[in-house]
Amino acid sequence: MIGSKKIHQANFQSLRWRLLLSYLTVMAAILGVFAAGVYGFFTRSYYQQMDEKLRTLAQAATPSLAEIKQEGNDYLERVDEVPWRDLFNRDRQSLEWFNSEGTPLASRGQVSLDSQPKTGALTERDTAQTSLIRTYTISVFSDPQNDSSQPSLEGFIRASQSMEALQAAQNQLIWGLGMGGIVALGFVGIGGLWLTKLAIQPVEKSYQQLKQFTADASHELRSPIAAIKTSVDVIRSHPERIHPKDAKKLAAIASASAQMTELVEDLLFLARTDATTVREQTTVSLNEILHDLLQWLEPLATAKGINLQADLGLSVSVFGDAAQLNRLFANLLENALQYTPQGGKVTVSLAKQNRFAVVNIKDTGIGISPEQLPLIFDRFWRADKARSRREGGTGLGLAIASAIATQHKGKITVTSQIGVGSCFQLRLPLERFN
Ligand code: ADP
Repeated sequence: MIGSKKIHQANFQSLRWRLLLSYLTVMAAILGVFAAGVYGFFTRSYYQQMDEKLRTLAQAATPSLAEIKQEGNDYLERVDEVPWRDLFNRDRQSLEWFNSEGTPLASRGQVSLDSQPKTGALTERDTAQTSLIRTYTISVFSDPQNDSSQPSLEGFIRASQSMEALQAAQNQLIWGLGMGGIVALGFVGIGGLWLTKLAIQPVEKSYQQLKQFTADASHELRSPIAAIKTSVDVIRSHPERIHPKDAKKLAAIASASAQMTELVEDLLFLARTDATTVREQTTVSLNEILHDLLQWLEPLATAKGINLQADLGLSVSVFGDAAQLNRLFANLLENALQYTPQGGKVTVSLAKQNRFAVVNIKDTGIGISPEQLPLIFDRFWRADKARSRREGGTGLGLAIASAIATQHKGKITVTSQIGVGSCFQLRLPLERFN
């Protein structure tokens, strides 16, 4: 037994999953932006600190440039007490002295750079970043001899530091943010499950109430309509008592009440298919159903001058409710006949495709425009209201067909072209795959 309540629960369940997925996507995007912000901020402030340190180091070495220019590396050998040594070891920094042409004079530290500092337009600071070493170069100027003379360039001092520490810290941060993000998303997911459940509950409840109302209203309307119908039938059974002027009006009442009966029955059927369980399911031969229906519709097709053809070669069975499947095919076939003009052709074919039974109902009728295709399964939707009303029908036929297909775990799809024709395809899982 397939419960339609179950089907609607499944619909709401899929809605809930979709909501949860959107919720998670939004949260993941927010967390991603947040993580990128934290990472950017961290890296920026780390660079600022590093530049500050390098600048201080380079500036601290400024006075020594004059000595080094005279004595070269010997000077550095001599001044062992210089406190930079600790720095060099601890922070993997280095210092290099250059003359005003950019020729290296001396260097100290663990980090070595092959390149020359940028000469010429060097002003107060110049930082260049390679993948592993960050440098900060300052230009050293001599004190002006007097107020009018320009200070002359003495040389450059370049402080460098290995970026390994930063890279390690960055890697750690990426890991931390990544893991933190995953854990946070996990919590968001758990919270989201609860939130979406809360959000769906009232929608589901009002949906069920609406279904119940439709079922109750249709049920209640049945008796008064039946009473009208019976009364009119009784009056019409005594034509001698009817005033000739009233005969037409009575015929109109009879036709309207017949249409109302059909409408109410359809509504009731839809409401019930939605709210209760399907009756007993059995093995149903689609060949038999289609064969019987075709025989039944043959006179109608002949009367309309339509060529009704069938290709029901293989024997195909599904597991389901025979009466409902009969109704499904009847709706599709009646539509095909109704919307195909005289001289047209309606073809029914039945085949197996993998695990599915596939029924195609193809007509050479008026067709459906692409923008209307998604609407045709909606309740009470009809392409041309004025025309359709004249031809009868309630606008519920395809909604019913689609509800029955869904209940049988199947699906109806349509391809159509205005003026060329339509093809309604029904796919139902084969009996043993149900
Ligand atoms: P009804 O046939 O009672 O109007 P249906 O739900 O069966 O209601 O169909 C809805 C609408 O879809 C129809 O009014 C018609 O405009 C369009 N339609 C359905 N079947 C066909 C078809 N075979 N060819 C063209 N239009 C169709």
